[in-house]
Amino acid sequence: MSTPDCLFCKVSSGDIPAEKVHDDGELFAIKDINPAAPTHVLVIPHRHIETILDLGPDDEKMVGKMYTVAKNLAQEAGIADDGYRVVANCNRDGGQSVYHIHFHVLGGRRFGWPPG
Ligand code: AMP
Ligand code: ZN
Repeated sequence: MSTPDCLFCKVSSGDIPAEKVHDDGELFAIKDINPAAPTHVLVIPHRHIETILDLGPDDEKMVGKMYTVAKNLAQEAGIADDGYRVVANCNRDGGQSVYHIHFHVLGGRRFGWPPG
């Protein structure tokens, strides 16, 4: 199911162009348009799911695959050995701005903890 006003549904359908680095029909990955690190990609399901709060038991396999895709992209980008971060922001206090779930995969520099 796609949602007409959703940015990532439009990227999924090709209505909005993006620099795609992965697509297996269920998940795709794009370079973040405003990168927060030398490597910053987003792993996104084609299916519209608003927040990680909307995930259910039927999605467990897909979410596991999101981590596998994130790992493969980190290895391809050459950031895996030094380390990288996978982040899912949820709702206002989590800093979510696009309400179609996605994992940020960030690397290529040292991150602080806790996040700001
Ligand atoms: P979040 O704030 O966690 O919902 O993350 C949304 C991310 O999408 C941000 O890092 C944005 O820079 C990124 N973004 C927004 N529009 C686009 C776009 N058209 N192509 C690629 N990334 C985008
Ligand atoms: Zn969507």
